Amino acid sequence: MHEWALAEAVVKTILRMVEGKGIEKIIEVKIKVGEMQQVENDIFRTALEQLKPVELKDTKFIIEVAKTELKCRVCGFKWFFQRDELGEDMLEAIHFLPEVSHAYVKCPECGSPDFEIVGGRGVWIESIKGLEKNG
Ligand SMILES: [Zn+2]
Repeated sequence: MHEWALAEAVVKTILRMVEGKGIEKIIEVKIKVGEMQQVENDIFRTALEQLKPVELKDTKFIIEVAKTELKCRVCGFKWFFQRDELGEDMLEAIHFLPEVSHAYVKCPECGSPDFEIVGGRGVWIESIKGLEKNG
């Protein structure tokens, strides 16, 4: 039910973001979901469709998966995490305890296991397209 709680939070966030902005109709909302969140996009989309209030009745939801980006603390090299290289068990472990990943993932440039996750975590609203009220 993780996706439903998430959809509820996203809907609330959207409404809060457009509040007081004079937007009459929200046409399109782009949502980025970090790969590490392990969100089932189909369930998430269904949840959004079911939970959306009247303000979002005609809104098109675009859900995009954000790749996990890592940055080496030693040489500064940035790369994208290849989730296919790790098994499901490992992904689960990393999801709950990101520190675990340091034992399995190394910088492709210098081989250091000392890196930070700089992108692809969490869920966020990338953009909202709306029609402004006239006058
Ligand atoms: Zn490095």
